[in-house]
Amino acid sequence: MNKALILVVEDDAPVRNLITTTLKAHDYKYLVAPTGESAILSASTHNPDIMLLDLGLPDLDGVEVIRRVRTWSNLPIIVISARSEDADKIEALDAGADDYLTKPFSVEELLARLRVTQRRLAMMQSGAEANSAVFTNGALKIDYAAGCAYLGEQELHLTPMEYNLLCLMAKNVGKVLTHTYIIQKIWGGPWENNVASLRVFMATLRKKLSPTPDSPQYIQTHIGVGYRMMRVE
Ligand code: CA
Repeated sequence: MNKALILVVEDDAPVRNLITTTLKAHDYKYLVAPTGESAILSASTHNPDIMLLDLGLPDLDGVEVIRRVRTWSNLPIIVISARSEDADKIEALDAGADDYLTKPFSVEELLARLRVTQRRLAMMQSGAEANSAVFTNGALKIDYAAGCAYLGEQELHLTPMEYNLLCLMAKNVGKVLTHTYIIQKIWGGPWENNVASLRVFMATLRKKLSPTPDSPQYIQTHIGVGYRMMRVE
């Protein structure tokens, strides 16, 4: 049922084979590119649905590949990297990557990230929610016109800051947003002074969204990196 076309950018043949074998077994179509330049060329000629991108490539840095692709395409890019430093993840996400996986990764993890990205893509392509005045995700509902948010029948009592944060997360549902990105969108200023405040606002917002321990977790924390709103079934 998948049939999405995945561009696999990876110079390491064993890792590339693991990925392509997994994709094949789960009914994805794929293309491979062993270098940054061939990845950019392939992205522009074959118009893949999703790019899986290794950062350590022989010719170009993966982050440079993201920057160049982003000048003309919104193609979802999932970074797969051995670099586990937060700074590297942040750099890739800020350059325009949608998600990241750290090597070594499990096949299940890879498939889960692909599913998240496909759902996000389907939503964007349908355009239904983008043009709609109401956002829904599980029991969460945002009525943009009224400036109100609800959990089930219950109106959420949010401060303007929390409401803005919630709308930003909702607009980017499924995507990891870095601290820098969120702070620039919400405060419009430099991030060093605001990351502690962001953490506090996010903690209270999460508590309001998940009032009991068994409530679904709408907002996922990526420690040292940022936050993501999850699609809740
Ligand atoms: Ca590599």
